[in-house]
Amino acid sequence: MSDIKPQPGILEIAPYQGGASKIEGVSDVVKLSSNENPFGPSDKAMDAFRRASHDLHRYPNTHHTSLRTAIADQHGLDVDRIICGVGSDEIIAFLCQAYAGVGDEVIYTEHGFSMYRISALAAGATPVMVGETDRVVDVDKILAGCTRRTRLVFIANPGNPTGTMVNASELKRLADSLPGKVLLVLDGAYAEFEDGYDGGASLVDSHDNVVMTRTFSKAYGLGGLRVGWGYGPAKVIDVLNRIRGPFNLSEPQLATAEAALRDRDHVERCIRENDRLRVWLRESLTGHGLDVDESHANFLLVRFADETEAVACDEALKAEGLIVRRVGGYGFPEALRITVGDESACRRVAHVIGRFRGAVE
Ligand SMILES: *Cc1c(COP(=O)(O)O)cnc(C)c1O
Repeated sequence: MSDIKPQPGILEIAPYQGGASKIEGVSDVVKLSSNENPFGPSDKAMDAFRRASHDLHRYPNTHHTSLRTAIADQHGLDVDRIICGVGSDEIIAFLCQAYAGVGDEVIYTEHGFSMYRISALAAGATPVMVGETDRVVDVDKILAGCTRRTRLVFIANPGNPTGTMVNASELKRLADSLPGKVLLVLDGAYAEFEDGYDGGASLVDSHDNVVMTRTFSKAYGLGGLRVGWGYGPAKVIDVLNRIRGPFNLSEPQLATAEAALRDRDHVERCIRENDRLRVWLRESLTGHGLDVDESHANFLLVRFADETEAVACDEALKAEGLIVRRVGGYGFPEALRITVGDESACRRVAHVIGRFRGAVE
């Protein structure tokens, strides 16, 4: 018998569960389980992708200068403190690899995104879950959860799957109050959907212990392309660049993301449609007696009386070709997370859930 073993923590990782995309025996399905943009990417992004295919024999630019410059221009950031990765997932993984190891603790919150726990374990660190209050991240509970061993705190703002937000003064209080060895990571995957929110960029600029992560996967409709980025203090970005593979992003990825970023009309139209349909769908579902918090993202967390009712409603939706997300793994066995689709998808969801509720009552 050989004695080959993986690093500590790795066998504790339960593989990430993606949103389902198929229903047995149903051909016309609408996928509302992964918070994808129902309108897809910008045409200009797709053109850039096709153009980049002519140079597939060339290695890509290792410094991502053109994309970083476009990001810095759009968001008013320091180009030298931006790092691009294979989705924001890769930036999250770099942060854990660089700042947490065996014996260190990584804090995430009760209903937080599952990649924080997975990346902490992959780095050999100990993930520590702290509670939220009524589905909102609670700064005092995070501070109470910090120990001598804490190195990282991850918060998604807006949160997934809650869709709720922590306000700017609470975030500042957290950044001001964390122990000196702790880096605060603000995951802004859904920041574009909250009008006027900078994803935490100004907090990064005023603090040396805050990093922001962002993505092209949601508002830009490029989940399949795999491009995300981070913004942080120069010292942190320097560290992350040391462990980043020199060719982590291909030229088609870089050129497509840049074209998507520059096409403001498309992304702004997607955001406006999301705003409108999210309000409409929430009103429709609360009108059927369901509990749905106001969402700041591109999905709704719909809470039922109990798990049995949530499962039954999921089945009713599936029977009509509508795939949504069960979120028991996020502490919500009684809820379904439903991505805001296009108008026809939202109407179908409202119709099926209305009929389902009529039969329950
Ligand atoms: C979708 C999502 C991401 C984005 O991940 P990518 O790797 O950039 O596709 C990050 N954080 C949260 C909370 C998300 O929901």
